[in-house]
Amino acid sequence: MKIQIDDKDFDLMLEYDQIKKRIRLIGIQLNVDFENRIPVFIGVLTGSFVFLGDLIKEITIASEVTFVKVKSYTGDQSGVITDEMAISMNLKDRDVIVVEDIVDTGKTLKYVLEKIKAQNPASLNVCTLLFKPNAVENEIEELTYVGFEIPNDFVVGYGLDYNGLGRNFKDIYKAVPKQR
Ligand code: 5GP
Repeated sequence: MKIQIDDKDFDLMLEYDQIKKRIRLIGIQLNVDFENRIPVFIGVLTGSFVFLGDLIKEITIASEVTFVKVKSYTGDQSGVITDEMAISMNLKDRDVIVVEDIVDTGKTLKYVLEKIKAQNPASLNVCTLLFKPNAVENEIEELTYVGFEIPNDFVVGYGLDYNGLGRNFKDIYKAVPKQR
């Protein structure tokens, strides 16, 4: 199935059923790994809100949820990242699980992880739905839970946007390269 968002065409890549099955398995793993721990899930906005919404319903252990939002200045190539909404919780001695929609170069995640590490959590792990292993610039040792490894395609849907649009699609789509 094809969809169009703005000036771009996209092909179906991952169906919601497949995504749900994978999330169920990740949930089981998290319930076992953090039994008796009361972890804090930190969703990285905006893209992670759909994934975290489904993931948290699979969590049966006591846990807390909060969010962080960062701003990257991609236009000027500076790679500068700043807080748009800082973490409002004390994370000292807590078991923290950062929830991402996608890890591409890993720059955003690196910034978020540094901020959290400064608060001395008891443990720090990352759970991402999508991971582009060929795009990541530094190894991220906290990347423990990965839904799907994908090629370096631009993807939308299930929380991920193109120019602000497409977050509402249930399935995940990849951009079709423009014909010349
Ligand atoms: P990073 O390069 O820092 O790992 O990723 C930065 C951010 O770029 C991600 O959190 C996500 O918001 C966005 N991003 C990276 N790859 C994609 C993609 O394929 N599709 C969409 N919609 N956003 C992406």
